[in-house]
Amino acid sequence: MPKSVLILGGTGDARNLADKLVDTYGDDLRVITSLAGRTTSPRQPKGAIREGGFGGAEGLAKYLKETKIKAVIDATHPYAAQISKHGIEACQSIGIPYVLFDRPAWVQDPDENWLHVPDMAGAADAIETTSTAMITTGIQNLDAFKNVHGPKILVRLLEHPKTELPIEDAEIVIGRPPYSLNDEVTLFKLLGVDTLVTKNAGGDATRAKIDAARVLGIHVIMIDRPATPPANTVTNIDEAVSWIASELALSAR
Ligand code: NAP
Repeated sequence: MPKSVLILGGTGDARNLADKLVDTYGDDLRVITSLAGRTTSPRQPKGAIREGGFGGAEGLAKYLKETKIKAVIDATHPYAAQISKHGIEACQSIGIPYVLFDRPAWVQDPDENWLHVPDMAGAADAIETTSTAMITTGIQNLDAFKNVHGPKILVRLLEHPKTELPIEDAEIVIGRPPYSLNDEVTLFKLLGVDTLVTKNAGGDATRAKIDAARVLGIHVIMIDRPATPPANTVTNIDEAVSWIASELALSAR
């Protein structure tokens, strides 16, 4: 009977990790990736997928027990703080190991022009006096920008939203990472972007926008990360694979 691991997903890292675990352990490990269900056609990782919320930490604990999950790897986005909190609580409550995939944040170079803000409201204040701002923080919490009337606002999203955006006259730009530096430079020039609003996601998939901003002298409004929850962490896929091997006493095929 294979042992089961749950990956809390919704990121490219989660998908790559699922692929790696399936390739490494084959039938010895059942890999289930959990998605919040926000994206209509997410890219599919190897292994099994389940979608939708669990109903808080309690619901997650119940799911883990019923599905006989032996360990949880939380590879959600660094700003998805609630599901991480629930993951830690649920694993503690039923006594199974949890690890957080803590992707290192991007570090500002001296020649980069970043303004650090603590949250979306801070970003909204900061773009008031700009000319053309591109918001790349995702579909959630865009309400924060609803009273901004100064700049032209572009919102980059993975797919067309099902409902109208809360920002009047915002233009939607559709794109899916990974992005290249050339493409980002071309896009930002074409659209006349002078300000980029971003989270500090870390990793390579969306880093090109930061590099393009540096090349073009675009102001970056950086929404700083929420505090990392107190948990065991790994920082890359190889470490995550080693962690699961040690926790579940697995050997590569
Ligand atoms: P969140 O605020 O931490 O979570 C809100 C609720 O959504 C959770 O309490 C949980 O509902 C459900 N949920 C979140 N992630 C889930 C998962 N992987 N599987 C099942 N249920 C999940 O999360 P968020 O910031 O809304 O992000 C939602 C998803 O989008 C995450 O999976 C994250 O990895 C991905 N994502 C987020 C961002 C971002 O900027 N926040 C960026 C890129 C991708 P219940 O309480 O009902 O279990």
